[in-house]
Amino acid sequence: MPEGDAVYRTARRLREALDGRALTRSDFRVPRHATADLTGRTVLETTSYGKHLLTRVEGGLTIHTHLRMDGRWVVMPEGRRMPGGDLVRLVLANAEWQAVGVRLGMVDLLRTDREDTVIGHLGPDLLGPGWDQAEAVRRLREHQDTTIGEALLDQRNLAGIGTIYRAETLFLRGVSPWRPVGGIDDLDGLVSLARRLLEANKHHASTVTTGDRRRGYETWVYGRAGRPCRRCGSRIRRGEMGSRPQERLILWCDHCQRD
Ligand SMILES: [Zn+2]
Repeated sequence: MPEGDAVYRTARRLREALDGRALTRSDFRVPRHATADLTGRTVLETTSYGKHLLTRVEGGLTIHTHLRMDGRWVVMPEGRRMPGGDLVRLVLANAEWQAVGVRLGMVDLLRTDREDTVIGHLGPDLLGPGWDQAEAVRRLREHQDTTIGEALLDQRNLAGIGTIYRAETLFLRGVSPWRPVGGIDDLDGLVSLARRLLEANKHHASTVTTGDRRRGYETWVYGRAGRPCRRCGSRIRRGEMGSRPQERLILWCDHCQRD
């Protein structure tokens, strides 16, 4: 599932292809907006907030999209055919480029002054210009009894962390994902680290938390279930956190990460 850094990069690609140009074609393949047509409107900008994308167009409209599990935006020259088999949910094209939204988990068209209805519930955006660390920590602290693993993934506390950054941040801080928020002394340091990891990766296609970009060396625990911990040699464990149907993968080292 794409995390905040991947969504940040997607916003940049969409800006490069669409900003400041008039749409020559729009195709909403979702029942709710099937008749919407934005042809002729200039795209003002695309911005990301956590894992959400907001594309603002002339006339006070915003297209809100979310990649969810396996969605993606493909940017290619206008006129080229999309390979078959992919579930296209939205196409935005100008004279030069087309942006094709494949398997998008959410597609909404709303008034720009109503964006709070789709992102207003979210905590501070880890990669946003208005990042407010104190507020993110305050929101986490409101869930003293929740496990830190679940609290970090709850986008209402802070927006942008997914399963990779959760696992890697907790490993680097030596904190078990099962420890309650109330049992963490330095929540501030933990949140700072998560942000630094996202920042360090926001311009790269691969996620590296070890500082080693060689294939197979990129992460401490994520993607390494059953393999030896890079620090202590114990077997990296794999489990699921959260209640159905929201349970999500977690990886950790029992020895290096304390309850
Ligand atoms: Zn270990």
